Amino acid sequence: MVKDQAETQTQDRTETVVVGSGFGALAAAKKLAKAGRPFVLISETTEHLFQPLLYQVATGVLSAGEIAPSIRAILQDYPKADVRLGRVVGVDAEAKELVYEAAGERHTLGYDNLVAATGARQSYFGRDEFAKVTYALKTVNDAKRLRDQIVRCFEEAHTTTDPERAKNLLSFIVIGAGATGVELAGQIKELAGRYFEQSMRGVTAADVTVTLVEGAGVAMPAYGGKLSEYTKASLEKSGVEVVLNTLVTDIDAHGATLKAHGEAEGVRRTAETVIWSAGVQANDFARVLAEATGCETDRAGRLLVNPDLTVGGRADIFAVGDMTSLNNLPGQSPVAMQGGRHVAATILGKKKRGTPFKFRDKGSMAIINRFRAVTKVKNIELTGAFAWVLWLAVHMVYLVGFRNRYVAIMSWFGSFVGHRRPHFHYAQEPQQIAEPRAVEESSAAAEIKTEVITSEVPVEKKETVTVS
Ligand SMILES: Cc1cc2nc3c(=O)[nH]c(=O)nc-3n(C[C@H](O)[C@H](O)[C@H](O)COP(=O)(O)OP(=O)(O)OC[C@H]3O[C@@H](n4cnc5c(N)ncnc54)[C@H](O)[C@@H]3O)c2cc1C
Repeated sequence: MVKDQAETQTQDRTETVVVGSGFGALAAAKKLAKAGRPFVLISETTEHLFQPLLYQVATGVLSAGEIAPSIRAILQDYPKADVRLGRVVGVDAEAKELVYEAAGERHTLGYDNLVAATGARQSYFGRDEFAKVTYALKTVNDAKRLRDQIVRCFEEAHTTTDPERAKNLLSFIVIGAGATGVELAGQIKELAGRYFEQSMRGVTAADVTVTLVEGAGVAMPAYGGKLSEYTKASLEKSGVEVVLNTLVTDIDAHGATLKAHGEAEGVRRTAETVIWSAGVQANDFARVLAEATGCETDRAGRLLVNPDLTVGGRADIFAVGDMTSLNNLPGQSPVAMQGGRHVAATILGKKKRGTPFKFRDKGSMAIINRFRAVTKVKNIELTGAFAWVLWLAVHMVYLVGFRNRYVAIMSWFGSFVGHRRPHFHYAQEPQQIAEPRAVEESSAAAEIKTEVITSEVPVEKKETVTVS
């Protein structure tokens, strides 16, 4: 609980404040740090999370620590970098001050430049009650919760004497066939055949149903054409059911109702695990900044930033990454990283104030399952094992820290060449079987404060991977 502001306020000042510890914030912070300039980085999490590999934590390939190193440790060699754990809740643009909550107190911090990179969270398109009955994949805790749920479902299916219950426990519905949905659906099916089938007598991959639901007419709509067709065909070959042109109209603790376009009635599917990866909206700090600066936002609450990534009429406030919308750039890590570097270069005077941000698109890629991925670099489209190796190589390069890279290679080797899931097999922390609806504590459920009911939920396209 935050104490009364007047009673506890502490006040100090710095040259630049960076808010967040994700891709955009880290890129800006590193550039400022290397130039020896002072800054304060405030984030509500202690880690720099590599979100593209969250699905591997959820499916036991990697441990959370491997993809979420401490932001303090990353910046520890720069004496002018001041890292603080806190949640930024207010900005006074005229006074050039922000307010953050930390250690149960409110603090005011003055700045010359403010760089916001607070990212996005799940969007349920007005059906916020879905957060309580679905699994999300946005934070480390989301990934661990899903991993516990997967283990629980397989363990209970292995021991129950009720065949109907076993069937439900081994049924998974993934909503949204963007990169995250495709990766999760492919991995869960692979888990069944390459890990659980080996270690559990009586459970075979054929017993496991994975249904991937998408509102658009193709899987991975961001690609379209040959790559989308390849994705669908590869998933189906591995046993994943791909349901296109379909809306989710209802979800509860034991399944979902799917309504195909043109059909009057929906069809109920039972499943003990429903995973939502269908859309995102900007985190709350975007709204705070919009109100403080007069900047407009889009339907997903993202700031409609100026071409130079400044916010509203302010030349001293910048925003980058998933909390922003500019020129239809995708919500992907390279956009956030390049944006962060652009802003830092502007603050350092290496770019003239007002220089527009130019995104260099080096290509995009998404993994489907073992030995299958899709890659697009300009007009060159790659599929299959070569694209898969490229995916591993690129993600290894962008993982932060030598040790993490080394451990990730060993884990990938064990999972993709062997039949192990290192983080189901050698749990790094005591694994407790999750309570059936522990999902209520997911990041999404915790964030949701309002409840607006609409009749139908379009399942929208999700991000694909791009190379920074
Ligand atoms: C499951 C998943 C898979 C993905 N796969 C890919 C992929 O394969 N390729 C790709 O390019 N992109 C992928 N993305 C998207 C990519 O991760 C994002 O585009 C990227 O993380 C955006 O960076 P960001 O800095 O804008 O925000 P984030 O990385 O989300 O960081 C936001 C930061 O802000 C902090 N924060 C939020 N609010 C506050 C506050 N009020 N005060 C203080 N701190 C705050 C958070 O703690 C966090 O540190 C994926 C995303 C997800 C969720």
